[in-house]
Amino acid sequence: MFTLDAFQITKVPESRLKPGMLDQPVFGQLPTDHMFMASYRNGQWEQGEILPFQPIQLSPFTSCLHYAQTVFEGMKAFRMNDGNVNIFRLDRHHTRLELSLNRMAMPSLPQELFREGILQLLDLDRNWVPDTEDAALYVRPFVFASEAQVGAKPANEFLYMVVCFPVVPLFQKAIRVKVETHYRRAAPGGTGAAKCGGNYAGSFYPTKLALEQGFQQVIWTDGSPEFHVEESGTMNLMFVMDGKLVTPPLSDTILDGITRDSLLHIARAEGIPVEERQITTAELFEAFEKGILEEAFGAGTAAVVAPISEIVWDERSINLPSVTANSIQMQLKKSLENIRRGYIEDPFGWNNIV
Ligand SMILES: *Cc1c(COP(=O)(O)O)cnc(C)c1O
Repeated sequence: MFTLDAFQITKVPESRLKPGMLDQPVFGQLPTDHMFMASYRNGQWEQGEILPFQPIQLSPFTSCLHYAQTVFEGMKAFRMNDGNVNIFRLDRHHTRLELSLNRMAMPSLPQELFREGILQLLDLDRNWVPDTEDAALYVRPFVFASEAQVGAKPANEFLYMVVCFPVVPLFQKAIRVKVETHYRRAAPGGTGAAKCGGNYAGSFYPTKLALEQGFQQVIWTDGSPEFHVEESGTMNLMFVMDGKLVTPPLSDTILDGITRDSLLHIARAEGIPVEERQITTAELFEAFEKGILEEAFGAGTAAVVAPISEIVWDERSINLPSVTANSIQMQLKKSLENIRRGYIEDPFGWNNIV
């Protein structure tokens, strides 16, 4: 069994961090010095360990490589205005990880193991948290079936790991998106609400086709004749219509994004009307023609908000005006940034100071 106060810690002899390294890192390519690792065996989690970032050795029989029993989380640690390091909404990420683990028939991961492991890892690698505006340290916890057995059944052994890398926001420019009516990301009763690797693998091909057609993302729709819009790529989807913030309601085909949830909380607190309801593709185009579709954007940890400049549905297209500092998405983003950078008070208890 694990105990919290005694993670084994092996430090790097010398940090790999050099001046200038955090300025323009490529997403997901520059690991920090250390990583966290814990094994699940014989029905329990063993002691967690912090060790230098390094490759791991796996048998070709490793279950996950064949059947994709793997889930992950993605969150950010921010440099606050007073120099402290803040991990945003850590416990909510744990809750979501539990939901994903459960859906993929994987063992529950104790909250304290998750929380303490990440806090201690971040404490050790705190110099890797960039202090430039809009940059952050991305924290990637993941669990996968590590048992060496090629049987189509849930594994009995798992590895939980946490790795981190510095990031600058993705999609700083407005994106063109295509309403995807043929391929689907998720189906009712499927795994769309779990943050599992297979959902991503399945979305790569339709996204590749969209990229070849000059789009940056697809808007996923459900399988109904009305084509209700669901998400934009790997982000939740939000609109401003007639002064209201409108987003599809959570379901088992929509991932419960923590950026989505945070923006909805902030909007309500700031008196912006919020509607969580189904939106058909036709409604979007009608709203645009009536002049009441003001904004469209994706919301997710990596990009925070990704403004959408154009939405194409077969032969029809919507062109939205450029985002300004007064756009609702920019105001919401600013409030979110102000909370997690410590410029304003954190009324929701979202910050976790390392
Ligand atoms: C991770 C993810 C999101 C965004 O969730 P955040 O918690 O805001 O980062 C949205 N959609 C999908 C499919 C995702 O995997």
